[in-house]
Amino acid sequence: MAWRFALIIDPADADAAAADFAATFQQVDPAAPALSIGELSTQRGDGIFESIGVVDGHAQEVGPHLDRLAHSARLCDLPAPNLAQWREAIAVAAAACPPGECVIKLILSRGIEHGPTPTAWVTAASAPDNTAARTGGVRVVTLDRGFDSAAPARAPWLLLGAKTLSYAVNMAAIREARRRGADDALFVTTDGIVLEGPTSSVILRFGDRFVTPEPGAGILHGTTQVSLFAHLRDLGSDAAYETVPVSRLHEADAAWLVSSVRLAAPVVAIDGAQLPLDAAFTASLNEYLLTPRD
Ligand code: PLP
Repeated sequence: MAWRFALIIDPADADAAAADFAATFQQVDPAAPALSIGELSTQRGDGIFESIGVVDGHAQEVGPHLDRLAHSARLCDLPAPNLAQWREAIAVAAAACPPGECVIKLILSRGIEHGPTPTAWVTAASAPDNTAARTGGVRVVTLDRGFDSAAPARAPWLLLGAKTLSYAVNMAAIREARRRGADDALFVTTDGIVLEGPTSSVILRFGDRFVTPEPGAGILHGTTQVSLFAHLRDLGSDAAYETVPVSRLHEADAAWLVSSVRLAAPVVAIDGAQLPLDAAFTASLNEYLLTPRD
């Protein structure tokens, strides 16, 4: 069976200082019951999470993931996480990881109904083998996300920039993509603006210019996309945030779905129209993403 690890955290106040937070962690058997039946994360998906890639015991991009956890907590009116405490919990989980690729998840839940709030835990597990997606690529179909491009500003309670636990819609989109003969989905707004994948950011290449949708467009601001943009700029490439109409997708010379665990998956078809796969360049992106980064 795949390797797994779990740590329950007693969340400290955001500004609480401590020499270390070891006394607030309790390692538990990941296969044994650990959550109350009244947990609002399981009843309503009311909570937030992060998935962090781990390479040979090194957790990647911990700072950006913690910043996003704090951002999601703000959007969801959850108590601000104590970042030193979470950083220490990540270090404990990473130290337990076997060599190779693993994934650490941080979960901060609204807590138990009528009980003390919030609840928090960290899990670690071996990562799935993503070689096929990284080398052979993914076929995607565009799927209507059901809101227009003005919705994020008009309806902030939709929590569109937060990484909430409510991923049923995202998982349904992937199932729909498979029903349509593809591997993954690319969400678009009702007024035809490209957003993101259900579990990834999209990066498009037009000539020698790399483009991704604006983070304010109702998408999650991906840590992998931010890191890759920094890398591409270091290489001298132009990388920019832009509004991308669906009608421009057919002009793309290449595209990738990027995320913390699967890393860069080249897109080989959008709605049945083929895209060229630059295997050597994609391999260089994944080599960069597999190098230890903070
Ligand atoms: N967008 C969505 C909806 C996601 O679920 C994810 C990752 O899970 C991403 C984008 C990519 O984010 P990251 O690169 O931080 O993993």
